[in-house]
Amino acid sequence: FCDWSTEKEATLAIIKPDGVLGNHTDAIKATILQSGFKISREKIIQLDKDSASSFYAEHSTKRFFDSLVKYVTSGPVLVMVLEKENAISDWRALIGPTDGSKAKITHPNSIRAMCGTDVEKNCIHGSDSPQSAQREISFFFDTSTSRGDIQHDEL
Ligand code: ADP
Ligand code: MG
Repeated sequence: FCDWSTEKEATLAIIKPDGVLGNHTDAIKATILQSGFKISREKIIQLDKDSASSFYAEHSTKRFFDSLVKYVTSGPVLVMVLEKENAISDWRALIGPTDGSKAKITHPNSIRAMCGTDVEKNCIHGSDSPQSAQREISFFFDTSTSRGDIQHDEL
């Protein structure tokens, strides 16, 4: 018996430009699937300054904001919706702490340990709460359409 109606939680993942350009996409996706997540939506896009600033609006007053926007607009990103029970906190645990260099020491099995470099270039994003997940998923995807199949949007 397979209960298709089980409520799965959804979260947003982004492989940032250093992850994509460093050829970490396949390893990250393998880790995602091995960890029990379903990739229900995905697309590769190039963020522009306005969209990156809007996505990271909560950080607009931080000293690192301009550098962050430059970083995430420096190349293509792979945006994914991940689904499983407890997806939001499980995905945050799997990506590890913000600082990729610290992650290598404290969370060696995390994704940021695998492909992160420092506190900015940490190769991956994860929504930090149910509110963020809802906002971030609808930032990138039309949530009124079917979520059943992977949508390969063109860059
Ligand atoms: P997280 O991505 O772990 O949720 P934050 O929401 O605090 O981290 O920050 C968003 C992104 O901004 C980080 O993933 C990282 O790329 C960048 N960032 C965070 N803190 C710094 C910092 N002190 N200096 C430079 N970049 C930072
Ligand atoms: Mg955050």
